[in-house]
Amino acid sequence: MSSPEELEEELAALAGGPAPEPVEQDVTAPDAEIHELKAGLGELAEQMEWVLNELTANPAGGPWWWAGLDAAAETALWKELGEFVSWLNNRILRHISSGVETIPGCWYLHPAGVEQLTALMVAHKSAYKAKSKRASPDLVDWFQRSLWPTLRSIEEHATWRRCLEEHHHHDREVTGYTHDDGFQEHAGIGSTVSADGEILPHG
Ligand SMILES: [Zn+2]
Repeated sequence: MSSPEELEEELAALAGGPAPEPVEQDVTAPDAEIHELKAGLGELAEQMEWVLNELTANPAGGPWWWAGLDAAAETALWKELGEFVSWLNNRILRHISSGVETIPGCWYLHPAGVEQLTALMVAHKSAYKAKSKRASPDLVDWFQRSLWPTLRSIEEHATWRRCLEEHHHHDREVTGYTHDDGFQEHAGIGSTVSADGEILPHG
């Protein structure tokens, strides 16, 4: 049996709890962790900056939403769309005898045509993925589901029929559209008109 002294020693050892080694590890570990966290935060900040740049540099409606483009982006899109229309006329439309109209040289003066040709070009970009070598029915889809239906739709709506028939551009008389008077109130946008006709927001 242990003597009282020995028992006391054992009790003291037990009361001393676990060896201090893990405590030393706990004391040194945070330094490495903090370093790692700092590095992680730095990366996160860089990523956030990139995202913010993307959000502010790109137009809210995307690169093909004409109404949202600045002057430089608009010029770039006109150039790209102009090349696409040239390609379409020279490569395809001038070589077919019936079925659809060609696109007249004044196409850029027809907003409804511009929007639809833009959509057609975007579909073409999607089908002819520059870096894809994977065979797929995407190209057939572009012809059968994008090109011909779009051109027939433009023809059906007589977008530029008169210009084609008379071989020069005709401006259509288009009355500017405005919502009915009740719209602002209905939408909760609310406004009042000042004595000199200026529209003032409520508030
Ligand atoms: Zn025209």
